[in-house]
Amino acid sequence: MTDTLIDRRDLAFQLYEVLDTENLTTRERFSEHNRDTFDAVIETADKMAREKFATHNSAADKDEPKFVNGQVEMLPQVKEAFDAYAQAGFIAGRYDYELGGMQLPESVMAACNGFFTAANPGTAGYPFLTTAAANLIRVFGNEQQKTTFLPNMLSGRFSGTMALTEPHAGSSLADIRTSASPTDQGHYLIKGAKIYISGGEQSITDNIVHMVLAKIKGAPAGVKGISLFIVPKYLVDDEGKPTERNGVNLAGLIHKLGYRGTTSTALSFGDDAPCHGYLVGEPHQGLKYMFQMMNEARVGVGFGAAVIGYRGYMHSLEYAKDRLQGRKASEKNPESPQVPIIDHADVRRMLLAQKAYSEGGLALCLYGARLMDDQHTHPDEQKRQEAGKLLDLLTPVIKAWPSEYGPKANDLAIQVYGGAGYTREYPAEQCWRDNRLNPIHEGTNGIQALDLLGRKIWQDQSHGLQLLMQEMQVDLQAATTDRCQQWALSLSETLQQAVKVTQSLGKSLMEGDPDRTLANASCYLHLFGHIIVAWMWLRQANAAAHALGSANTDDERNFYQGKLQAAQYFFHWELPTVAQDLVLLRNQDDTCLNMKADWF
Ligand SMILES: Cc1cc2nc3c(=O)[nH]c(=O)nc-3n(C[C@H](O)[C@H](O)[C@H](O)COP(=O)(O)OP(=O)(O)OC[C@H]3O[C@@H](n4cnc5c(N)ncnc54)[C@H](O)[C@@H]3O)c2cc1C
Repeated sequence: MTDTLIDRRDLAFQLYEVLDTENLTTRERFSEHNRDTFDAVIETADKMAREKFATHNSAADKDEPKFVNGQVEMLPQVKEAFDAYAQAGFIAGRYDYELGGMQLPESVMAACNGFFTAANPGTAGYPFLTTAAANLIRVFGNEQQKTTFLPNMLSGRFSGTMALTEPHAGSSLADIRTSASPTDQGHYLIKGAKIYISGGEQSITDNIVHMVLAKIKGAPAGVKGISLFIVPKYLVDDEGKPTERNGVNLAGLIHKLGYRGTTSTALSFGDDAPCHGYLVGEPHQGLKYMFQMMNEARVGVGFGAAVIGYRGYMHSLEYAKDRLQGRKASEKNPESPQVPIIDHADVRRMLLAQKAYSEGGLALCLYGARLMDDQHTHPDEQKRQEAGKLLDLLTPVIKAWPSEYGPKANDLAIQVYGGAGYTREYPAEQCWRDNRLNPIHEGTNGIQALDLLGRKIWQDQSHGLQLLMQEMQVDLQAATTDRCQQWALSLSETLQQAVKVTQSLGKSLMEGDPDRTLANASCYLHLFGHIIVAWMWLRQANAAAHALGSANTDDERNFYQGKLQAAQYFFHWELPTVAQDLVLLRNQDDTCLNMKADWF
């Protein structure tokens, strides 16, 4: 079994040769960093992920957390890993120096977190949720909330959760029923039930800070009536020390296909004892606050899916080099030695597909992380705004494309192993089970498709889309070698057809039947996603073609040739699959819309 989580050469290529991450150090916020500090923190993440996280990935999957006498029992290694991550400063990695942070760019932090997820997505879930919850408090909380909770969360003494989903309200958060009643002491009393809350109970930290969506009594109906509350497991005193137990309780643990190391909980609020909640920001703005953080969370899900896909690829690649089986079709001598399975073109097909999906997904997510950096730190205000618009448009794709193709990569990894892949002795099946969550949570991929076609494309008079086309033009024109120019041409032709179909869908949405137009939103997401990832491959191919001429070792030449061949795979095998989407979308095919429930 390989211990490579993400190929460091590839990561360096993507960060420095494709994205010019080093250039970020010219910005005021990152001026104390340089490539060496970025590389040092990435090295720390890679090493810690291998030594503290990967080592119990399989054990935490087999021996999942248990609910015993009202407590959660879990492997002690999970706490050790969480503490190591916190002590190394990763929870606060992006934050200001004054908050104890390292002021690292999002691009670098995303890369670091990639190692932890690739090593052990279940354990990595706890610190990632803590960062996300702390971020909500940092941006929208009042001063008292910040001083009470942030230092404890950033140091890893308290963890965090995001408590949105209820048994009857998952995709449709407008319908949540958890209620909040004001008291004269300033806090609210929370009553209700949440389900699937990751990390909702555990035995790692002194306290758990739940970020809970609830409706204040008398609030407007729907999403406009949702507020955000801090609900700690233990109430805290003015210095942030845990005191008495709050009325939020574990109703039960949920047992899952994968991600078994992260507890999945059903929580009850205010059932046996009063449950105190502290309003964050203004009343009725809760979903808006959550959604502002959602871009980050969704890029994080996409990233996770890409790197779990990557991890399976690394495992199956190593296996394919070692496993001897059969001979080439042209070899007639039955006594000739068997060849490693990587010598069979069909196995290379499966490996190339994995490479195309996982490195393409990684490129897409790193591009998204870079947009976050540009949105917050670009010296030019207009560029900051443009990055925000591009990120907003691309978020459904960054979430959904890797989470569709990461599990597909893992499925192929299982296939490369043959029978061994189907057994629990080898790691590919766990990668697939873990990754299978990603198309479901943080808004299912079906919901992402509706968001893209129903909203994001048209937002701000499609300014985001125009910016995207401009960005793509730069890379289309930068294609100078014959191979890259061929790929640029096929991308440009597909793009033109996609623009045409988008215009006709826009017209139908305005003037026709939105139910019919949106019925094929998933095809649109596939079309759009494949175009974006083809663009990511063109960017990588341009960089590889440029560097190949001056590469002076075999390893370097092989690396760049591998990039070009994977780009070719994407352009020959994947991009053409959008032809079917274009037909269905042009015709506004109504097969699914007109199927009746009674006909099934
Ligand atoms: C392991 C795990 C961890 C999770 N962690 C958290 C967490 O930490 N915090 C939290 O709050 N939640 C969490 N969730 C919940 C997760 O976000 C929801 O499961 C998800 O949003 C889908 O909601 P649902 O399960 O109710 O499915 P539903 O909303 O019932 O959807 C079922 C199906 O119907 C489709 N569908 C629904 N509405 C529409 C529509 N309008 N148009 C077209 N199709 C539609 C969906 O795409 C899906 O295919 C977690 C879930 C899991 C499984």
